Amino acid sequence: MQKDVLVSTILHNGVKPLKKSDLVSDALCCMDKNSISSVVITDENNSPIGIFTERDTLKIVSSAIDCNTQLSEVMTKNVFCIDAGTYIHDAYILMEQHEYRHIVVVNKKNEYMGVITEGDFLRHMGFEDAANVKLVKDNMNKSILTITPKTSLVKAAQLMTQKKCDYAVVMSGTKPQSVIHERDITKFLSNHSNIHEASIEEVNHHRMYVIKKDASLKEASEMMSQHGVHQLVVVDAADVLVGLISRHDLLKAMHRSYFDYLYKTIEAKVQREKELLLHKEELEKLANYDQLTKLPNRLFFLTYLKKSVARMIRNKQKVAVVLFGLDRFKDINDSYGHNIGDEVLYIITQRLLKRVREGDFLSRLGGDEFALILENIDSANDVSMVLREMLSAISAVAELSNGVELHIEASAGVTIAPNDSTDVRELLQYADSALNDAKKSHKGYFSYYTNEMTQKAQEKVTFENALHNSIKNGELELYYQPQVYIQTGKIISAEALIRWNHPEKGLVSPNVFIPIAEESGLINSIGEWVIHEACRQGKIWEDAGYNLTIAVNVSASQIKYQNIPKIVQQAIQESGYSASKLEIELTESSLMQREENVVEMLHLLRAKEIRLAIDDFGTGYSSLSYLKRFPIDVLKIDKSFIDELPHDQDDAAITVAVIEMSKALGYQVLAEGVENEEQLAFLKQKGCTMYQGYIKSKPLPAQEFEALLRACLV
Ligand code: C2E
Ligand code: CA
Ligand code: CA
Repeated sequence: MQKDVLVSTILHNGVKPLKKSDLVSDALCCMDKNSISSVVITDENNSPIGIFTERDTLKIVSSAIDCNTQLSEVMTKNVFCIDAGTYIHDAYILMEQHEYRHIVVVNKKNEYMGVITEGDFLRHMGFEDAANVKLVKDNMNKSILTITPKTSLVKAAQLMTQKKCDYAVVMSGTKPQSVIHERDITKFLSNHSNIHEASIEEVNHHRMYVIKKDASLKEASEMMSQHGVHQLVVVDAADVLVGLISRHDLLKAMHRSYFDYLYKTIEAKVQREKELLLHKEELEKLANYDQLTKLPNRLFFLTYLKKSVARMIRNKQKVAVVLFGLDRFKDINDSYGHNIGDEVLYIITQRLLKRVREGDFLSRLGGDEFALILENIDSANDVSMVLREMLSAISAVAELSNGVELHIEASAGVTIAPNDSTDVRELLQYADSALNDAKKSHKGYFSYYTNEMTQKAQEKVTFENALHNSIKNGELELYYQPQVYIQTGKIISAEALIRWNHPEKGLVSPNVFIPIAEESGLINSIGEWVIHEACRQGKIWEDAGYNLTIAVNVSASQIKYQNIPKIVQQAIQESGYSASKLEIELTESSLMQREENVVEMLHLLRAKEIRLAIDDFGTGYSSLSYLKRFPIDVLKIDKSFIDELPHDQDDAAITVAVIEMSKALGYQVLAEGVENEEQLAFLKQKGCTMYQGYIKSKPLPAQEFEALLRACLV
């Protein structure tokens, strides 16, 4: 479906609305004459007040209502209207969600403009390739209402109303003979007065059009428009009735293929990115690989490590850098010559490769030095286990081509990023000093970069103690960063970001202390404080007349161990802040943990009118399909996708796809970390809802934020 078409462009008007004093017979006549499936009833201001559809016709027949009844008594009131400026895609989603078959379109003054039906959508959708491969049998309706020619009209109308079918198949024995549609009944009703004696036979109905179940949706659509019908009878190879396919089924299938299309676009981007990387690697192979062992060389190692560290920081994970060195290698080279030395290196490589797991990165830095990168490390224990295995694998006896049996032994030094450092050269240095330490102490063993680790461990204990006291010492503070509605430039919400005024270190970033708080369980009390404080401040601003939503970050471990809905409830009650002005930000990964409970928690929050946002969206975009399960209001595109906009084609494509998808799913979308006008212009043009970033303001203390709010109002 074209995404940027407005409802007004597909609207067919021309049929005059009726008034509430008009009669049912007037409506029937109007529908029959114009071959339309509904009429709208308007008041003296031309505003819609009701609708009368073919479905209501069935009611007239089945409940024996007089055709001289005024429309005001039988019409469906509370008509659902949309603005003519709505995108047809959004309109379709609304129609589908509410299971409407007609939507009444109005202008800004709520004046009647026309009606759109499923048929209008279908005409504007355009069949993509998908429709050629989708089959009738997979999209048809298998539970069909069947009647016989002798069934009375009243009975048929009752059955159709009961089963919510707008058509029934008339059978002659076991064979389908014809189809009767709501419209046929409307027509009959508008031309006959005595309907109670009538049987289906007497109703002049459409010829039946039959399609085989293995036909494509495209063929079905063509057949429908060729014959001007809304449904086809589906038969199998032996012409036995197996189902019915309607325009409604086609529309649903096509809309699904629009989603498939979006998913595919995203997948293709990811795939292309991968292929580009492979191609690049191919080119760089010569420069990047060690000739002897065919392992990545030092240069490649350093580039890879840099990326790996960045990736791990982004994922809040650790990476271990291990440096292996062979004991006595110099002796081997000196005593047996370089050829034997090379042979030893080759054997070691094979032994190491056998132990390397998928995702590990092994390289030869030069001489007898091998380096290994282990990602996603949870604890030093993980590394120790891997290393013990590797070192014992290396140290087996090797039989060399000159007949000599050599007992080879290796040692290893380990350093962990980002704990020890995030700088690759520093990491390599640390691993090297750990390796020297290992070689000195026990041959065949490994050491961690201990000095640093001990020091860090000590620091951590002190730090944790200080953090523990931070709440009662009043050292925690919330800063607020504005979130701006892109179309108007107005500040509509603020993200609350925690700061710690450390008595000695000054302002400490949450990136530093939140992970420590999580590890030590302190996050529970800190998280609770944050929610209470945000609501307290929110209430002050609410009372001062600012219309502002406040977003609060909730971490994965908080979800796991805390009763968030309860804490939120308490904070709301205590502060008197409006629940609908509080937003909770959760990361994608925290939604993935213990999913059922999370879904339940989100629904509990939603029931309290709390808004929900997905933070840092983008790293796991394959999971977009998951999102449909969660009641989400806002999707926040991670800063890393925004940074290189609009120049990075892949980031741009992904951002656009996420915006499109969010719209399709009915979410608002917020771009994080917008720093310049170029990015902003791009996002605005692509229809992003909101943004947040230094271009508007850094996070500010409450008072300064309020000053900014005031300044923006002027
Ligand atoms: P986040 O939720 O992704 O927050 C956005 C971070 O990006 C903030 O860093 C913000 O200052 C920064 N930022 C915003 N706009 C820009 C920009 O234009 N350029 C750049 N370079 N950065 C920008 P901050 O405040 O240091 O927070 C870091 C992270 O700490 C947050 O990431 C969030 O994960 C966590 N955090 C902060 N407050 C809390 C809290 O109260 N509870 C929990 N559980 N986590 C929190
Ligand atoms: Ca956030
Ligand atoms: Ca974020």
